[in-house]
Amino acid sequence: MKFFLTSLLLGGLVLVSPAVVSAASEASQENMEGQAMIKPPSSASEQASDTSEEQTEGTISSSDSSAGMDWSAANTKNQKTQGSFTVCVDAGHQGSWVDMSAQEPMAPGSSQTKNKATTGTSGNFSNVPEYEVNLEVSLVLQKELLSRGYNVIMTREDNDKAISNKERAELATEEGADITVRIHANGANDSASAGALTMAPTSSNQYLNQDIIEKSNTLATCIINHYCDATGLGNLGVISSDNMTGTNWSTVPVAILEMGFMSNQKDDLYITDSSNHETMAKAVADGIDEYFSLVSPAASEMPSPSPVEEPSE
Ligand SMILES: [Zn+2]
Repeated sequence: MKFFLTSLLLGGLVLVSPAVVSAASEASQENMEGQAMIKPPSSASEQASDTSEEQTEGTISSSDSSAGMDWSAANTKNQKTQGSFTVCVDAGHQGSWVDMSAQEPMAPGSSQTKNKATTGTSGNFSNVPEYEVNLEVSLVLQKELLSRGYNVIMTREDNDKAISNKERAELATEEGADITVRIHANGANDSASAGALTMAPTSSNQYLNQDIIEKSNTLATCIINHYCDATGLGNLGVISSDNMTGTNWSTVPVAILEMGFMSNQKDDLYITDSSNHETMAKAVADGIDEYFSLVSPAASEMPSPSPVEEPSE
C-alpha cells in the first residue's frame, strides 16, 4: 500500500506539469542532449511581454533625428536600421540520407564530441520529417526578413546539404551575421507534451562571453513570445542549455526555436500546415525586430557620417 501511495504521488507529480517536464527532456532528446534546464516560463513571458509593448511603441514613434527624413522610403517599421543587420537562418538537420554521424567537438576546446548533425524527429500525425518543415519555415522566414530589409544567410536551402552544427556556426561568423536563429521542431514520447520553446545558453556557459549570452537570451525571449502570441501555440518559455554544438561554437547571439511538438496532434498539424508558415515566419521576424530594437549588436558597424570629405574627381 505504501508503494502504491508513493506511485500515486509520483504519478500525480508528473501529471502536474507534463508539458514542461517533457519539454525539458524532449528538447534534449531531440537535440541528442541531456542536461537542459528550465526557467519558469511565466517569468520569461511576463518580462518579455512588458518590454514588447514598450518597444513596439518606441520603434514606431519618431525621434528628433527624423527631421528631414524621407518618410516615403521609411514605409516599413525599422527599415532604416534593419538594412544594416544580417540574420543567419539555420534550418535544423538535413535529409535522413545524408550521413552526418561523424563526430565533432561540442564546443571550442572541448573533448566531448557529438554527431556532426542528427536527422531530427518527425510528425506522428503529419508524417512530415522535421528537417523538411524546418526548411519550409526557414525559407518563408528568409523571404520575410529580406522584405523587411535584413541581409539573410541560409545555412542550407535544400535537404541534401551536408553541413554540421559546428560548420553552421562558422558559416554565420564567416558571413558576418549579427545573430543566428535556429529553426527546429520538438518530439516527445508523450503525445500530451505540447507547445513551443526557445533555447539559449546559461549565464555560466564557458564558451560564450557574457554579452553574447545575455543577447542570446533576449533574442530567445523576443522570439518565443511573438511566436506564441501569433500562433496560439503553448508558450513553454526559454530553456537554458549549454550542450548545443551550434550554439557553443557561435560567435554571435543565437537562439533555437522549437516550433512545437511533432508528437502532439495539434502542434504537429499546425506547424506542418504550409498555410500557417507565413504567420509563423512573420512572428519570428517580429521577434527579431524587437530584439534589434532592444540591442544594437552592429551599432559600431553602422555607417556614420564621415568627417572626411568624399574623394572627388
Ligand atoms: Zn531539431
